[in-house]
Amino acid sequence: MPDPSPNWRHALIDALPKAELHLHIEGSLEPEMLFALARRNGVAIPFASVEAVRAAYSFTNLQDFLDIYYQGMGVLLTRQDFFDLTLAYLTRAKADNVRHVEIFFDPQGHTERGVAFGTAADGILDALAEGEARLGITSGLILCFLRHLDEESALATLNEAGPWLGRIAGVGLDSSELGHPPAKFARVFAAARGLGLKLVAHAGEEGPPPYVTEALDVLGVDRIDHGNRALEDPALVARIVSEAITLTVCPLSNLKLCVIPGLALSPVKRMLDLGIRATINSDDPAYFGGYVGANYRAVADALELSADEIVTLARNSFAGSFLSEEARARHIAEIEAIAAAFA
Ligand SMILES: [Zn+2]
Repeated sequence: MPDPSPNWRHALIDALPKAELHLHIEGSLEPEMLFALARRNGVAIPFASVEAVRAAYSFTNLQDFLDIYYQGMGVLLTRQDFFDLTLAYLTRAKADNVRHVEIFFDPQGHTERGVAFGTAADGILDALAEGEARLGITSGLILCFLRHLDEESALATLNEAGPWLGRIAGVGLDSSELGHPPAKFARVFAAARGLGLKLVAHAGEEGPPPYVTEALDVLGVDRIDHGNRALEDPALVARIVSEAITLTVCPLSNLKLCVIPGLALSPVKRMLDLGIRATINSDDPAYFGGYVGANYRAVADALELSADEIVTLARNSFAGSFLSEEARARHIAEIEAIAAAFA
């Protein structure tokens, strides 16, 4: 395809409809909102200014980040807080031409500090409904279990979620990966499957390839979050390709958490070359320096992605979503039309 200007990749990325499949809503808490909510709720925070918060966002691994992530969550207390947080994210997503989101929340991060499950869930769901009505963004909410806690706590959380399950798309698994293999949550994932929920799990971000295999075989997940280290195992790669398993890759997150030493070493291009259904996502954008559009632009520039590769990433984001067949086809048809016009 032609190269009309130095920013042709950015123009194409802006024009393409996108879905975001890997976003922790608590990770979209910008320093400005953290300060505003701390003031509104009278919560003390260990930072003197927005600049001090940003300066603290320097991590060497996943745990470094998680420590500050859980601290930030402490300002989220009311249904209105969760509503404001979620609507702010959707407004950002709209600016990136995102049409559909499947977002995570961490109820145990709230219930363990005395905030009721429903306070978080209702606030987020209210905003998702408003986002669809006002911004035209469809959505699914995924309840994540914190893997550093035990399975009993996850089972109790799934039980507590009962009245909301009609409005929850699926369950996921996040937080500290190393030392907490997917198999630790076999029973709660089986229970969630029995309830008709979709299943996803973080695997292969810091954890080894067998964690990815375990997520597929033991948990029976529909999608793998991250999955970078799957590339170390050729047999696993062959399986991911043949079963068309979606990987939700997060380039700026990988960079910030030192999963990769530079964006030029992002696995996205290699995954596409191998025929893996890779997608681009922002993970915890307030902490990692960019929303989904910024992730696309950064990785497209660093890897010098072709127009076809950029279009494939956008197409994959819908193909890997939990949207209906009809909705997926509609979004993908729009992508094909934009790709054809761009060519
Ligand atoms: Zn994540």
